[in-house]
Formats: sequence, C-alpha cells, structure tokens
Amino acid sequence: MTAPLLDLWIAGRRTAPRSARTGEVFDPATGEVVRRVPLAGADDVAAAVAAAKAAFPAWRDTPPLRRARVLARFRELLEANRDALAALVSEEHGKTLADAGGSVQRGIEVVEFVCGAPHLLKGERAEDAGRGIDVHSTLQPLGVCAGITPFNFPAMVPLWMFPVAIACGNAFVLKPSEKVPSTSLRMAELFHEAGLPEGVLNVVPGDAEAVDALLAHPDVAAVSFVGSTPVARHVYETAARHGKRVQALGGAKNHAVVLPDADLGFAADALAGAAYGSAGERCMAISAVVAVGEAADPLVEALAERARRLPVGPGTAPGVEMGPVITAAHRDRIRGFIDAGVREGARLVVDGRAREVPGGGRGFFVGPTLFDRVTPEMSIHREEIFGPVLVVLRAASLDEALALVNRNPYGNGTAIFTRSGAAAQRYARDVEVGMVGVNVPIPVPMAFFSFGGWKASLFGDLHVHGPEGIAFYTRSKVVTSRWPAGAGEARGHFAMPTHA
Ligand code: NAD
Repeated sequence: MTAPLLDLWIAGRRTAPRSARTGEVFDPATGEVVRRVPLAGADDVAAAVAAAKAAFPAWRDTPPLRRARVLARFRELLEANRDALAALVSEEHGKTLADAGGSVQRGIEVVEFVCGAPHLLKGERAEDAGRGIDVHSTLQPLGVCAGITPFNFPAMVPLWMFPVAIACGNAFVLKPSEKVPSTSLRMAELFHEAGLPEGVLNVVPGDAEAVDALLAHPDVAAVSFVGSTPVARHVYETAARHGKRVQALGGAKNHAVVLPDADLGFAADALAGAAYGSAGERCMAISAVVAVGEAADPLVEALAERARRLPVGPGTAPGVEMGPVITAAHRDRIRGFIDAGVREGARLVVDGRAREVPGGGRGFFVGPTLFDRVTPEMSIHREEIFGPVLVVLRAASLDEALALVNRNPYGNGTAIFTRSGAAAQRYARDVEVGMVGVNVPIPVPMAFFSFGGWKASLFGDLHVHGPEGIAFYTRSKVVTSRWPAGAGEARGHFAMPTHA
C-alpha cells in the first residue's frame, strides 16, 4: 500500500500541491515510509506568499488585543492536543514520547509569551522632548515573513517563529523540514480553528527548491531560519542579497567543562541526558566534555556506566530513554564518524555501533557512544555529528578548558559543572558562546528570554523569541509631534534645531 500524500496549507485550507515532486516521510523506529510529502515548487511558494500578502492588511489592522485573543485560543488548543502532537513528533522524528511532549510544551510557552502582545508592542513616549514637542515610538509589522525549520524539533522550532511574527501583526509562510512535515500542518489547522483569518499562516513543506523560492520572492520581507551552518550561511547571504531582514541559526558543538570540585555523579547524570537525549539530535545537546584535571578518570567511568545502561528502543516503548536517529543515511554518517574516531586514535569506551536494540527491527538505531582522550583536531571533535556520540577531551586547568572551548568555531550553548562560584562566574563571562549553563547542561532560555548562539551558530543580529523575537518581526517608527497653539509659534528654522 502506498503511503498517503500530504497537502500544503494555503489560505486557510488544505491545498493540493502544483509541484509533482514528492518525498518520503519515515517512522525512524521501524524504517517504514508512513507518508509522502509534497515538495513545494516556486508556484506553490508564490501561491502561499500571495495568500499571506492578501491577508496582511486586515491582520495588521486588527488591534493587538484581538490578535492576542486568537493566540490565547490557539494556546488552549495546543494544550488540548499536546499528546497527539507529541505522538506525531515522535512518529516522524523518533524521539521518545516524554521528550516530544516536553518539546511541544516549550513551544506552547512561546505562544503564552506572545499572548502579551499588546504590552510587548507598546512603544516609548517622551513628553516635552523639546519645547512643546512630544516624541513617541511605535512598533509596526513587516508584512509577509517566512520561516524555514529543521527536522529535529518538528513543533518547537516552528513555534519559536510563527506565533511571534503573527502576534506582531505579520502574515507568515512556514517551510517545515520535509522529513517531519505533519506537525506543522496540524498546528496550522489548530490555529485556524482558533480563529486565525485565512492566509495569515501558510505551510509549504518542501526542500531547497522551496527555500530558494522564498529567499528570492520580492514580497517576503523577513526570513527566520534554523538548521545546519552551511545552509544557514546560504540563507543569510541570499536573503540579505534580496534585501530581506534575516536571522539564521546554525549548527553547534556544545562543550561542558567539568572541574574537579564538581559533584561528578550529578554531572554525569546531567551530561548523559544532554548527550544522548533525543539521540543527540538537539542543537543544544552536549557533544563534547572537557574534563579538567582529576575529574577525568572518574567522570569517564560514570559516563560509560550510564551510556551502557541507557534504554534504547522505539520512542513509544515504555521505559525507553533514547530513540532512533532520523534516517538510514544519518545513521550511516554517525557510524562513519565513530569509525573515524577509532582511526584517528581516540579511545572508544562505549561503542554504539555494537548496540543490540530490542524491538529495533529495521529502525535507524545507533547506541550511545563514548570516546575518551579525544584531541581538538580529530574529526569527532571538529564536526557536528548530531547523533548520540559524546567525546571527552582533557585539560589541565580552567584556563586551558576555556581556551579550547573558545577556539571552537561554533558558539551555541555550553555548561560548566563546579562548586566554585568564582570559576563559574569567570567562565560565564569569558566564554564566547550565546547560552551558558552553570550546573545546567542544556541552558535553553525560557520563552520570555531570547534564544540564539554566537559565531557560526548564528548569522544575523537578533535571536529568536523573547524581546529579540519581537524586535525581529517589527520595525520601529519614531514620531515627533508639535501642535502650535497660535500664529506666533510657527517660524521657519534654517539651522539645525538644538536645545543649546
Ligand atoms: P538542514 O540545514 O539540513 O535543513 C534545515 C532546513 O533547510 C530544512 O527545512 C531543509 O529543507 C532546508 N534545506 C536543506 N538543505 C538546503 C539547501 N541546500 N538549500 C536551502 N535549504 C535547504 O538541517 P537539519 O538536518 O534539518 O537540522 C539539523 C541541523 O539544525 C543541525 O545542524 C542543528 O544543530 C541545527 N539546529 C540548530 C538550532 C539552533 O537553534 N541553532 C536548532 C535546531 C537545529
């Protein structure tokens, strides 16, 4: 039996694609094709942008409070459908149901944040900025915004973008990852059910062809991207060349520094979760540990013990803590990295290639893998593997660890484990990374702060959600006003007015 073909979501309804190109959507736990996905072409993208452009004026003119009420109803529907959305995330991505549920929740929190849109969109005002002159600033929407999202958070990453843009009065075209399209389509239906006018949100699953059509489309004002660094760079450069505002979040290699004074049992528990949760397919996963001094031997032993006993299997099976990776090709790439680590002379402590997975069948599984005595030039340290492979490097001091982390081209997340306030303070100040955890392995900022990395992990200026998300999806205008009361007040000024 052929798997059913999904639709696009344009102008408030399921719409058949014009493009004849399709892709396969797998259940990574079984290796089966569960759906086929349309790969939108330039015509489909044009139809979605046209629908968004037509919807924009009325949505922009809808008072923020009324827009926020639609978002509040959307939030309730997301809550009511949280388990079903988590099941869809788990089915197409492979992560466990509990992990999928947590990621849906973190997305819902962004919607919660933008329910405060009327407050968030207030500008500033200065009375008597000059004699008889008032100045106020206001935040206005941009028009049609586009979002391009990766496979690893089918609900959360889209929710970082479209609710914020829409709360600010924009219309939106979302291009979800072709590997996990169903959750975005379902969320668009729920938003529609919540009362969102047709055309304000459109969803066009697709691949590079749809992305390139969005980047070149003259009616797209701004582009948010989350994905790997090479594509983030391409999106940033191309969108900027077409005159668009752009934020492009890229890949990562996140380090945790463990000092000898840390509670090593606590650190090992935290790091095992951060390295192997979601099979390492998180942009904030810890994929490298820098063990300082005497911390190294006991920490490696504790990590190995946790990696060996971590329950691996289908994400829906009870008790399982780690599911499969996204595709067979990705599994083979991860195995290739493990082969390379061995060849390059790292010590393979736990070998995920050899892991038997009960109920694993033809699913795309790789077991938790741990390398010790890794050096910075090895490929398993230089490259983002995006799988359940944790590498341990050793450093003699905090200074050496800090220098090692700062030499890395990425700067998404990092953590330090220590009982020393002074060491933690120093690390948090001097590390060149956008999100820092102190005894917190995955320091993902809450929705009311902004999320984003530094260096090769972010191209653009503004991070997502929180105050920077609002800034990204609005442009500010400053109005200077005077209301002359009598004829004597109106005089020509030929020199620059000052208050000297
Ligand atoms: P990806 O870069 O392959 O794909 C991301 C999006 O870009 C998808 O929608 C895809 O269809 C599209 N795309 C892929 N190749 C393209 C091309 N050549 N031209 C134009 N568009 C293209 O990323 P992925 O494999 O889906 O996701 C994993 C990556 O995302 C990892 O590198 C991970 O670190 C990163 N990520 C980063 C963050 C962050 O916040 N910085 C968050 C999540 C994921």
